[in-house]
Amino acid sequence: MKKIQTIFKSIILAALLFAVACGGNQQSEKAKIDYDKLTFMELMEQAGEEQVQAWYDCDSRIDEDEVAARGKELKAQKKLICFDLDGTVTNHRTPMIPENKAVLDKLMANPEYKVIMVGAGNARRIFDQMGGYAIDIVANYGMQEATVVNGEFVEVRNDQRTPDREFFLKNAQIVRERYGFTEYTGESVEFHPAGMVTLGLLGSKAKTEDKLVFDPDKSKRRAIYKDVCELFKGYAVFIGGSTSFDFTEVQYNKYDAVMNYAHKHGYTRDQVIFIGDDFGDGGGDSHIRLGGMDYIHITDFTKLPERMSFLY
Ligand SMILES: [Mg+2]
Repeated sequence: MKKIQTIFKSIILAALLFAVACGGNQQSEKAKIDYDKLTFMELMEQAGEEQVQAWYDCDSRIDEDEVAARGKELKAQKKLICFDLDGTVTNHRTPMIPENKAVLDKLMANPEYKVIMVGAGNARRIFDQMGGYAIDIVANYGMQEATVVNGEFVEVRNDQRTPDREFFLKNAQIVRERYGFTEYTGESVEFHPAGMVTLGLLGSKAKTEDKLVFDPDKSKRRAIYKDVCELFKGYAVFIGGSTSFDFTEVQYNKYDAVMNYAHKHGYTRDQVIFIGDDFGDGGGDSHIRLGGMDYIHITDFTKLPERMSFLY
């Protein structure tokens, strides 16, 4: 009888221990961040201040030294290779140079990789600028998606949003008064067909020569960037063109654009690498840096072949 009692007690103890262990696991699973499930905004909320700050402070995630040290490992790990266009694969708004087209050709010829473009401009513009190159295009910060079939441009998705015009006009006026941009030519705020919004500090009809000398190093706009983000909460804010801030709804940024494509095609965040030129605050590629995604910073688009050679 005593023996049965002892066995019974042991079973209960084992069951209890097992339950505690599972509970502990569940706890730690909950605490662990599932990068593959979170949007950029969710990630910012859940990642913890220290981690978010570390990502913020990172100005070069996979630099040349890291490629030298971990090139083989990265080559085996990375499957979804995402390119920005202007300043990365091409000079600003110009066609691809043959050397950079060869980079894409080589990567696309490798069945291990999926290679895509992730642009700020619209898909048709990217397709045309690339000379009809057959590649999947995620455009307008993820609002648009396109592919190429038999050399033809095929639209896959084209989200349309309706921005709150009053909200934009009111906050644009606050920016103008607060920072002395009350004189402008044309419209204060431009509302684009798909729902993107532009606040040109000199106005929508400013002269090109005035625009070019206004803020060539972006320092004027960087100085007020944080405040503009604060005023336009709920939108992703980009320092665009020569005088403007561009706005998209917050879910339209290159981080979410890449992750949405990755989910749809069965890739994890670890398998993604982003290649771009504009990771600074307000830059088109900035959310990639801020969200802690692996990236390569191209400072000279003619050096693209050199920087990408570890993936061949
Ligand atoms: Mg760029």
